[in-house]
Amino acid sequence: MIRVGIGYDVHALVAGRKLILGGVEIAHAKGLDGHSDADVLMHAICDAVLGALGEDDIGHFFPNTDPRWKGASSRIFLEEAARLTNSRKGRIVNVDATIIAQAPKLFPHIAAMKKHIADALGLDIAQVGVKATTNEHLGFLGREEGIAAMAVASVEL
Ligand code: MG
Repeated sequence: MIRVGIGYDVHALVAGRKLILGGVEIAHAKGLDGHSDADVLMHAICDAVLGALGEDDIGHFFPNTDPRWKGASSRIFLEEAARLTNSRKGRIVNVDATIIAQAPKLFPHIAAMKKHIADALGLDIAQVGVKATTNEHLGFLGREEGIAAMAVASVEL
């Protein structure tokens, strides 16, 4: 059976934090606030895979009250989603995601993000889609108050 899952996440942009998207550290005046490294892209993809499995969301597996995940690389969340998929005898067919960020320009970093995500999930890079768009200066995303990501995952179970 082919299953699909959806994921969405948003984190606030604040001074004094690194900006990490898809495992790539990107030079920017602000970074995303959060308990872990706040990698909004990996979080959305993680939730998409968990959703395809019919599992609870990322916050259930990695509570932001747990000191183990303070400052953690979000790569471990994706690795756990892949491990859960394997334990269910499943196979991730593909993941696809869109980052919504008014700034900075993300296109130069997309290939590196795909590589990090593919490695974390045990996929070929061709199974990973990552796109970026601005929010046309509209709303909190357009005012650069945060960055959001949405993702889908297809899993064969
Ligand atoms: Mg998150």
